[in-house]
Amino acid sequence: MITTADTIVAIATPPGEGGVGIVRLSGPEALHIGRAIVRPAGSTAEWPSHQLVYGHVVDPASGRRVDEALAVYMVAPRTYTAEDVFEVHCHGGPIPLQGVVELALRHGARPAARGEFTLRAFLNGRLDLAQAEAVLDVVRARTPTALHVAVDQLAGGLSRRLRPLVDDLMGVLAFLEASIDFVEEGIPGAAVETLLARLDAAKQGLDALLSTARGGVILREGLRAVLAGAPNVGKSSLLNRLLRAERAIVTPVAGTTRDTVEEPANIRDLPVYLVDTAGLTETDDLVERIGVARGRAAIESAGLLLLVADASRPLDERDRAAFTVARALAPDTPAILILNKADLPRALDEGDALPLFGERPPGAIVACSAATGLGLDALEDAIASTALGGDLLAPDTAVVDNARHRRALEEAVAALIAARDGLAVAFPLDLVCSDLRAAVTALGTITGQDVTEDLLTRIFGDFCIGK
Ligand code: GDP
Repeated sequence: MITTADTIVAIATPPGEGGVGIVRLSGPEALHIGRAIVRPAGSTAEWPSHQLVYGHVVDPASGRRVDEALAVYMVAPRTYTAEDVFEVHCHGGPIPLQGVVELALRHGARPAARGEFTLRAFLNGRLDLAQAEAVLDVVRARTPTALHVAVDQLAGGLSRRLRPLVDDLMGVLAFLEASIDFVEEGIPGAAVETLLARLDAAKQGLDALLSTARGGVILREGLRAVLAGAPNVGKSSLLNRLLRAERAIVTPVAGTTRDTVEEPANIRDLPVYLVDTAGLTETDDLVERIGVARGRAAIESAGLLLLVADASRPLDERDRAAFTVARALAPDTPAILILNKADLPRALDEGDALPLFGERPPGAIVACSAATGLGLDALEDAIASTALGGDLLAPDTAVVDNARHRRALEEAVAALIAARDGLAVAFPLDLVCSDLRAAVTALGTITGQDVTEDLLTRIFGDFCIGK
């Protein structure tokens, strides 16, 4: 059961040593507990709200000082959780921080669950669900553009654009529901036309949001770009080139496996994981077989295939085998054909390679050289534009960057189309209404008007403790 009746406590700063560490309390007893464990250096009569107070954390039972600290009491509702909050800023080491938490627990606080501070902000109406989810995106943003989009979401960007669409759909729904009871001979044709136009306009609005989802989800979750091709065409060299160019602004992300070569890179401000595959074709050697299995799995989960050929020699059987296997494993994945070793005289005819791409030709063909860096700029452009499918990310439009939001939008569009078509062919109104209600409900899951406790637990379970 989710409750906001008690007072929660957690360390809000990352584990390890730091200049300062923060313990945060939120709930009705925050001030009471804070008062009990922090002894201000000056007058103790009042704790002014939103002002730092210097003092010591003291165990009242023994009178022992735990640490020197600055403490701040923030009275509801102008706080992160919209509840009373008390924060202790002490030295950033695990023992003093844990000491403060233990004192708070002894005085009636309860350890916070993952994301519980942000969950409370949502439950108390300070953030809607899309905004609450954006808190995590801000913390985890890997590129400046990803941060920009997350900050816009946090400010309610997506919710603000959804609200008029939802309001209009509710208006149509209310009209139709009223008509079920009062219009025996059906809705007049002219009124139907108006309603259809309103549904079409809402669908257009949802489509416009959805069109940003491909790029948005890449910004949030990263793109797996997998290098594949015959041995010695220069895959590892290209990987190193693409990493070296960007390494300075790349941060490693937890969960990146080190046993397959997979490296985080920043390419044209998209967070990209570059994956090198050792080989794709069958072999008798056990160790190589494991490599082949991993390579194949990487291709199947790729968001973009980088198929590499050595342009200084004609295409041969190993190239053909590698491209054919890659295409068979990921027939619908966008791909780029890279003609590497462009610093050497050209001997490859790209016309030989194209038939291997089958139904889906490469999104781009780029000649470059991992050795000299020639053409690498064009390769980065091609990676970004092929990954985004030509959708440019305009930073000032609302970008759907969350797979959950995208699914909800898709569900809403499908229900809206059903409602629209039903209304156009004069289906029974209760069926049309039920489709329309499904569309509104799907949109409600984005902002959190329609959510289950299960969904909340799942979303906030992704957060860290103390957020
Ligand atoms: P991989 O097996 O596909 O990963 O290929 P490597 O990256 O190991 O490169 C194979 C060989 O080709 C190495 O000797 C590289 O130095 C060389 N090589 C890679 N890229 C280029 C290039 O752009 N130009 C030239 N001239 N040689 C390259």
